[in-house]
Amino acid sequence: MWSGSGPAPAGLADGADRLVASVGHWLSRHQRAIRHVQWAVALIYLVLIIGPVITDLPPRTAHVWTHLTLFAQFAFWGIWWPFVLLSMILVGRSWCGLLCPEGALSEAASRYSLGRHVPRWITWKGWPFVAFALTTIYGQMVSVYQYPKPVLAVLGGSTVAAIAVGLVYGRNKRVWCRYLCPVNGVFAVLAKMAPVAFQVDGAAWRRSPHPRAGQALVNCSPLVPLKTMRSASPCHMCGRCDGFRGSIRLGLRAPNHEIVHVAGDTPNPWETVLILFGMMGVALGAFHWTTSPCFIDAKQGLAEWLVERGLTWPLEHSAPWFVLTNYPAQNDVMTLLDGFVLLSYISATAILFGGLFGLLLALATRIAGPFSAKRFHHLAQTLIPMAGCGVFLGLFSITVTMLRNEGVPVFWVSGLRAALLAGAATWCVWLAWRVVGLWTGGLRRVAATVQAAAAVALAVYGWALLFWIW
Ligand code: SF4
Repeated sequence: MWSGSGPAPAGLADGADRLVASVGHWLSRHQRAIRHVQWAVALIYLVLIIGPVITDLPPRTAHVWTHLTLFAQFAFWGIWWPFVLLSMILVGRSWCGLLCPEGALSEAASRYSLGRHVPRWITWKGWPFVAFALTTIYGQMVSVYQYPKPVLAVLGGSTVAAIAVGLVYGRNKRVWCRYLCPVNGVFAVLAKMAPVAFQVDGAAWRRSPHPRAGQALVNCSPLVPLKTMRSASPCHMCGRCDGFRGSIRLGLRAPNHEIVHVAGDTPNPWETVLILFGMMGVALGAFHWTTSPCFIDAKQGLAEWLVERGLTWPLEHSAPWFVLTNYPAQNDVMTLLDGFVLLSYISATAILFGGLFGLLLALATRIAGPFSAKRFHHLAQTLIPMAGCGVFLGLFSITVTMLRNEGVPVFWVSGLRAALLAGAATWCVWLAWRVVGLWTGGLRRVAATVQAAAAVALAVYGWALLFWIW
């Protein structure tokens, strides 16, 4: 009888659970085929990031299917990004372990690594937030969604760094993916909701004999401590540990299980910062600014203030394309003033919204009983569905814009956005109800959940501004 970390499957779910387990066995037996697929994806990836740079920018009449640049744009930002995010919620980090070209290249480089120990600066827990925020903001400064050279700089630069880290640290490992990848934190957070995960049966592990000297051990490339693994966050779903010591297998679990019953035991302040200020703050600002009347007002106000003082150079000068968007032929140039207001706008949005989310959750924690940082961080985890939904919808806007440009009817988008936001909001409130229920009951539970729901409502308002109000 299975007794892994998630709730035991029952009834009808038994068949589905066996099917999921068989997928885990299949993965473990087909590592060579997986590597072949990874090399194929890496090849396609390299063509898509390098090809457009050596191709002219597309004319206005070009289509996704007639111009490599537009095709690459659609592939990366219209499909790859939003749907890889969605896949985290559905099948955990399978993308990382089975398809990601950057992870595969980093691991391949690691075979020839100097084998150095991973230094402390790499294991700093703040990287997931810092790397996500810097990449998101830089992407906006250089218009990464529109032009090929910034794509090469951002994605290509990240790939080169991943290979370089692989060549220096660890051996046959993915040190880059585990600690430094700019989306590692976001993927780790979203994978907590996945209904499938590799699970460890602690009792079976303890009963199993220790591997003999010379017996092959599992090479878990993202360095997951297998014996104590309770979270899907760091696991890349590669399948290599399936069956190890008769105690690890892929299994079904309730999508709420990890957030409610596991996340509270391992509070991580940096993860809270990533959720509140990164995914629900920086991301909101990054998608807001192009349509925000506040952005336009701030820019005009500052421009007038500068002109009145005879300081016109910030309005007249730009910077190279790798610092600020600079494509005069496309009539698309960001001045220094544009860049300054952009940075200020995204930072202010992140601080304002992130700060308010934090305040509302702190009040909810206090209402539920004596304030404790551990409880606060646990409650922050209940906003993960909204954080993921927001980032997905923001990226999906690029998909919609590209589909609209191709003449595809997009009348359904507004309804889809409303349904996803409503679903994510309901999920967050339900999670808050469950988590608060671990601490208190009765009216306190109701009041604390209502307070947490205010944070959810604020997030919905933030996205509604972009989709319907502005
Ligand atoms: S725990 Fe490690 S070896 Fe096991 S599936 Fe996850 S990434 Fe692969």
